[in-house]
Amino acid sequence: MKKSLEKLIELQEIDTRLYEIEELKGDLPEKVKTLSAQIENLKTENEASITRIDEITKEVRVSAQVIEDGSVKLAKYKEQLYLVTSNKEYDALLKEIDQVKSEITEAESSKMKLEIEKTSLEESVKENELKIESVGTVLEKSKHDLQIALAETETEEAELREKREKFIVQIDANLLSEYDKFKKVRGGYGIISISRGACGSCYYSLPPQMVIEVKRRDKLIKCPSCGIHLFYDDTE
Ligand SMILES: [Zn+2]
Repeated sequence: MKKSLEKLIELQEIDTRLYEIEELKGDLPEKVKTLSAQIENLKTENEASITRIDEITKEVRVSAQVIEDGSVKLAKYKEQLYLVTSNKEYDALLKEIDQVKSEITEAESSKMKLEIEKTSLEESVKENELKIESVGTVLEKSKHDLQIALAETETEEAELREKREKFIVQIDANLLSEYDKFKKVRGGYGIISISRGACGSCYYSLPPQMVIEVKRRDKLIKCPSCGIHLFYDDTE
């Protein structure tokens, strides 16, 4: 049993140091993640806008063609008006002219709508590009700051993580899951040292006999109040 206790204490030492390293990084990893996501979103939005602008350009060309063809037809029909010999032909031609005119009006109105849409998309692309640039500057700064924060502890952190991986397989699975459970909810502590005869986590005053047993460090003892494993830190 002494072995299990010593292992938990050693695991806690590793985790406490890892916790300190995380604290050094502060909110920088989260910031880098958020800013990168922001930039990605803006880029995706711009890609969609640019695709739509290309579509619009083609659609505008189609409308312009309809207008051009219609104008040619109109001119031709108007000339023909002078050449018709019967009322029936004349009426038929007028009907054709009305038809072409309405086609042109429709094409002009859709061309105008498309151009308005295009202008607004182009503006939003430009706006997003400016945002990408300014967010990018903050992102680069945060990345740089994070790198500096990491530089000092990077090797140590990698070593600790590797050590932890190898270490935890030697610990009883139930014990480890209990440890992890407490670590999550007790500010990073899966096992806690007693302090002035009380549980270091919930401050419950332990019976004197229990304090003596914990100080012996020869078996696993849980706090009767909160259930966390206790140990005695003789360096305190
Ligand atoms: Zn407790």
